[in-house]
Amino acid sequence: CAKGSGRGCYEFYDPVMDIKAREEAEAEQELREALVRGNLELFYQPLYNVHSRRLLGAEALIRWRHPRKGLMLPQQFLHLANRANLDIQIGEWVIQESVKRIAEFERTGSPVQISINISPSHLERGDFIATVKAAIARWKIRPELLQIELTEESALRDPELAADRLRQLADIGVTLAVDDFGTGYSNLASLITLPISKLKIDKSLLKDITIRPDARVLVQTIISMANSLGLHSVAEGVETKAQLELLSAMGCDVVQGFLFSRPVELSAFRKLQKQGDYMDADFGILNTAA
Ligand code: C2E
Ligand code: MG
Ligand code: MG
Ligand code: MG
Repeated sequence: CAKGSGRGCYEFYDPVMDIKAREEAEAEQELREALVRGNLELFYQPLYNVHSRRLLGAEALIRWRHPRKGLMLPQQFLHLANRANLDIQIGEWVIQESVKRIAEFERTGSPVQISINISPSHLERGDFIATVKAAIARWKIRPELLQIELTEESALRDPELAADRLRQLADIGVTLAVDDFGTGYSNLASLITLPISKLKIDKSLLKDITIRPDARVLVQTIISMANSLGLHSVAEGVETKAQLELLSAMGCDVVQGFLFSRPVELSAFRKLQKQGDYMDADFGILNTAA
C-alpha cells in the first residue's frame, strides 16, 4: 500500500502483505513447536561486583535454536511470541528453567543469583505470583536468588496492579530490579516507592561516558540517586576497560557486559563460575558465542 494512496487502499489485494502474513504465521507455528520440542534455551551473562570483582550471578537471556536459521536472538522472535500469545508460556518456561538452575547451583555449592526478564503482560496476569511461588517451592531455592527484571513500562503501565504484584514478590523474598533504566519516560516518583532493590542502567546511556561529559553526568546522577535511595546500581553493556574504571570511580556496584563475557550457554557459564573473578580471565572479550 503506497504512502499517500489514501483511505481505502487496504481493500485491494496486496501480494506482498499476503506473503508477509503467511511467513509470520509459519514463524509463529515454528515458535510454538520450539517451545514443545525444547528448542528454546537460556544463555547466561555474568554479573560482577565492581569492587570485589567476584561473580554475583547471571542474567538469563532467551535464545531459540532454530533448525534452519541457527541461533536466534530475542529481538528476532519475541514480537512473534507476543502476537501468538506465546509470551506467557515462554515466560513460564523461563521461570521454571531459571529456578531449576538456581537449585542446581545451590546444590553444587556455588549459589548465584539468576536474573530473568518478565514481560509486562505476564506480570499483570492473575496467576503470575502463583507461578513464581510454585517454582520456588518445587525447587526449594532461596527466593532472593531469583531476581526479576522489569522495565519501567512494565512497572508503570498499570501502576496499581504492578505495585501490588511487586509487593507480593518482595514478600516472597524475590529480588526486584528495574531494567533499561533511563530509557523510558517514567514517573520517577512512583517508581521509587516500589520495593525494588536494583536499578539497571541501560547500555545506551553508557556508550559515550568516556568521551562525553554530559553522558558521564547523567550516569553519575543515576548512580548517586540509586545510592541515596539505598538501591544498588547495575551497569549493563560494559564493553571497555575505560568504562569499567569510570563506573568504578562513580560508585557503580555491579557490572555486566561484553568486556567480561557475552551471554553464553550453560556449560560455558559453569566454567565462568569456576573462575569466579573477572580478573582471572584478564580483560577483553572472553567468549565469542552470541
Ligand atoms: P535486556 O534485558 O536489557 O538484556 C541485556 C541485553 O544487552 C542482552 O541482549 C545482552 O546480550 C546485551 N548486552 C549485554 N552486554 C552487552 C554489551 O557489552 N554490549 C552490547 N552491545 N550488548 C550487550 P539480548 O540477549 O539480545 O536480549 C535483548 C532483550 O530481549 C533483553 O534486554 C530483554 O529485554 C529481552 N529478553 C531477553 N530474554 C528474555 C526473556 O527470557 N523474556 C523476556 N520477556 N524478554 C527477554
Ligand atoms: Mg534484562
Ligand atoms: Mg537491561
Ligand atoms: Mg537493555
